[in-house]
Amino acid sequence: ITILGIESSCDDTSIAIVQNRKILANVTANQKIHAEYGGVVPELASRAHQQNIVPTLDAALKKAGITLNELSAVAFTSGPGLLGSLLVGTSFAKSLSLALDIPLIEVNHMQAHILAHLIEDPRQANPEFPFLCLTVSGGHTQIVQVNSPYDMKLLGSTIDDAAGEAFDKAGKIMGLPYPAGPEIDRRAKLGNPGAFEFAKPRMPELQFSFSGLKTSILYFLQKQMKENPDFIKENLNDLCASIQNSIVGILMDKLELASQQYGINRIAIAGGVSANSGLRDALEERKSSLNWELFLPSFEYTTDNGAMIAISGYYQYQKQNFADLSVVAAARKPLEA
Ligand code: ATP
Ligand code: FE
Repeated sequence: ITILGIESSCDDTSIAIVQNRKILANVTANQKIHAEYGGVVPELASRAHQQNIVPTLDAALKKAGITLNELSAVAFTSGPGLLGSLLVGTSFAKSLSLALDIPLIEVNHMQAHILAHLIEDPRQANPEFPFLCLTVSGGHTQIVQVNSPYDMKLLGSTIDDAAGEAFDKAGKIMGLPYPAGPEIDRRAKLGNPGAFEFAKPRMPELQFSFSGLKTSILYFLQKQMKENPDFIKENLNDLCASIQNSIVGILMDKLELASQQYGINRIAIAGGVSANSGLRDALEERKSSLNWELFLPSFEYTTDNGAMIAISGYYQYQKQNFADLSVVAAARKPLEA
């Protein structure tokens, strides 16, 4: 079985080809245009998808060494995401399905971030079911009980900002370019995580909140800058390390609580922030005392990628769960749809 996966929910156009559970190609066209605006501009994103999607497909086919005629089905992200961006991938997938006369498969982007764990790749281990997944991305923070590729239960999520957003907004306050997550990660390695302390939110059960952290960082920096206009410049690495330490602390607390409450010790992380070295180090440090079996995705499958859409399509194909041409993209889409 050979599945084409098309991802276009935000600012990356990514197309992958999976054969059974192995990735033959996973090609991404990044959109650099948004950096100068300090965030993704939806209208520019959808236009860039239109320009990138055909060359990205060509590159993926070439890399995989196959032709369109060898595809069993085409899978695409139908949401959640930016509507204008989703529409480009959706229309493109529909035309391919129609032209090649192969099934069309609809994929939920947040389920796909998790299902990237089922890709057969020497760089990552595949968890058995059930497992808990902490999905931390630019738009979501979720703890999910994964019973099978077809059965996921949302146990907790954020009431305001996502973890990736917390990184990006904190970075923006400090003058770092968008997206700031990777840069904060890099600088955190050179700084002291205990240099500054930011109050932890008190949220019940498995709920997250990150907007208070952003505000306390903002007020703290405004106060310091009044006394010393070079405060951020002089303390940037320590600030990055301390902010990352706060975010990771919040995530770890809830993940431990979820594992305890549900009695599940197989723990996975997914989404862009799952690339974060502070989070990975904290998990590695605590896993033996918590008796956790840990599943860290290959870096290639953390931020948005076509491979996660292709593997999700592969599992839907097993169930002959096909969409028809009337299927529509949607900006909002619940995880358990
Ligand atoms: P969603 O999946 O919720 O729709 P998205 O697709 O935009 O959102 P992803 O592509 O999964 O999100 O992840 C992007 C986010 O990950 C950004 O906020 C980025 O700053 C963050 N990120 C990427 N690498 C790192 C890192 N090493 N450390 C911290 N954050 C990171
Ligand atoms: Fe994503």
